[in-house]
Amino acid sequence: MIEATTPERALAVFAHPDDPEVACGGTLARWSALGGDVHLVIACRGEKGSFDPSTDPDALAASRADEVARAGEVLGLASIEHLGYPDGEIDNDAALRARLIEIVRRRQPDALVAPDPTAVFFGDSYVNHRDHRQLGWAVLDTIVPAASPLYVPEAGPAHQVPLVLLSGTLEADAWVDIDSTLTTKVAAVACHESRLGGDPELVAELLEHRAAEEGARAGVDHAEAFRRLRFAG
Ligand SMILES: [Zn+2]
Repeated sequence: MIEATTPERALAVFAHPDDPEVACGGTLARWSALGGDVHLVIACRGEKGSFDPSTDPDALAASRADEVARAGEVLGLASIEHLGYPDGEIDNDAALRARLIEIVRRRQPDALVAPDPTAVFFGDSYVNHRDHRQLGWAVLDTIVPAASPLYVPEAGPAHQVPLVLLSGTLEADAWVDIDSTLTTKVAAVACHESRLGGDPELVAELLEHRAAEEGARAGVDHAEAFRRLRFAG
């Protein structure tokens, strides 16, 4: 089923620099092109995102923050916040949930996008990153408290998020048509030069192939897939 909501305010919460562009860059670009304010939160610094042991983690984190900023301009994001967790050290604990509750109440999103924490095994050669799973659960565990005023009362007025779209899911049931923003998504992912392995054309091909596959499932040319949750206010 096509998810055609265009939120006035959207909030995307992802673990690492480049996760949101790959997972839902076309959706975020579509919403912002249609006039929505799209806010992004990145939980981790990305300082361990290299297989080269001579990498300076602080320098990598700085360049990845620059890449996030450039990609954010391409996508037309309204804001980007970095929570500054070291890679691999996200825990779904009360401190993280309190930070997320404060952000949800401040941004008051009509739509919230985050990783699906129930996705563990993708085929037989990839186990979903722990940071994605911990953050996904933290986001889901924030929704009821954010809407309940006696939780973290100092974090602003309660807000019920009506729509949650979970990316990186094994149980997709909603697709966003990204035909008009696929090239924007590819351009945003291409901003993450530290992650592209020197072959941006291959990355673009993979992204286009994946979007076409999901489009075929949804009955459009190109799409991004989500698991959808809806909550009554
Ligand atoms: Zn990631």
